[in-house]
Amino acid sequence: MSMLKLAIQKKGRLSDKSLALLRDCGIRFSNGKGKLTDKSTNFPIEILYLRDDDIPRYVENGTVHLGIVGENEVLEQGRNLVVKRRLGFAKCRLSLAIRREEEYTAPQDLQGKSIATSYPNILQNYLNEQNIDAQIETISGSVELAPQIGLADVVFDIVSTGSTLLMNGLKEVEKVCTSEALLIANNELPDSLGSDIEELLFRIQAIYQAQRSKYVLLNTPNSAIDAISSILPGVKGPTIMPLGVEDWSSLHAVVPEDQVWDTIGKIKALGAEGILVANIENMVQ
Ligand code: ATP
Ligand code: MG
Repeated sequence: MSMLKLAIQKKGRLSDKSLALLRDCGIRFSNGKGKLTDKSTNFPIEILYLRDDDIPRYVENGTVHLGIVGENEVLEQGRNLVVKRRLGFAKCRLSLAIRREEEYTAPQDLQGKSIATSYPNILQNYLNEQNIDAQIETISGSVELAPQIGLADVVFDIVSTGSTLLMNGLKEVEKVCTSEALLIANNELPDSLGSDIEELLFRIQAIYQAQRSKYVLLNTPNSAIDAISSILPGVKGPTIMPLGVEDWSSLHAVVPEDQVWDTIGKIKALGAEGILVANIENMVQ
């Protein structure tokens, strides 16, 4: 029976976070440096370390069952594969940029220009949608140099903070699409691997759920328990425990991360004291 195989980027902007995700899932490796493959010591999975551009192809042809790769590569290559889940890291956008001193009002300004990119298919689709005729210069790296060296008028590339564009005298003029890391899968996964894949997805889900929540602990006079409980629903309801001080209790609850500050304000006003907010490692519901 074949073992579950997952491809991740060998070295680059996706590698550390891909490995960290597996570590957070409790999947351990012997961590031999320089290896191209690695079998987990405590989960039935083998990791292959590849160039990110190659990952969609290997997932499509079944060399590996799963892969972690940027959405930009998936969009560009348009392969026959399944997106199992979005992973929320390596967030960036693909944008068009021109020389800082040039004027720009609308996509039609790109008509007749030459555009350097490593993503010709995504760019061509955009140009077709906008009814623009432009010449695409496909290059594999250092795209932002193209205007300086006279290769193209415009660049179409990955942007995150925009500092690389700025350093090269360019300005972003159109955001074409966004990207983040994706967990992708082959279209016809063997049934025999179903339970291992489910277990992996279950652990990833528990990590993401936990990252979106905080554990809030507080002390409250017993008279305020009902009012505070109505604000702190928790997973089922808050845990309530008596304190060593008469007429006081301790309340514990899980709160969505984006509501933590709002919740703290409300429970303080109701008499809560000694409020602690803690991270949650995993959360299974
Ligand atoms: P490889 O050697 O594996 O081919 P690469 O040089 O093509 O690597 P990286 O620069 O490591 O690729 O980027 C990998 C992926 O990380 C990109 O495809 C994109 O999804 C994402 N990414 C790239 N740049 C950024 C950025 N500045 N911020 C966030 N994510 C980014
Ligand atoms: Mg690459």
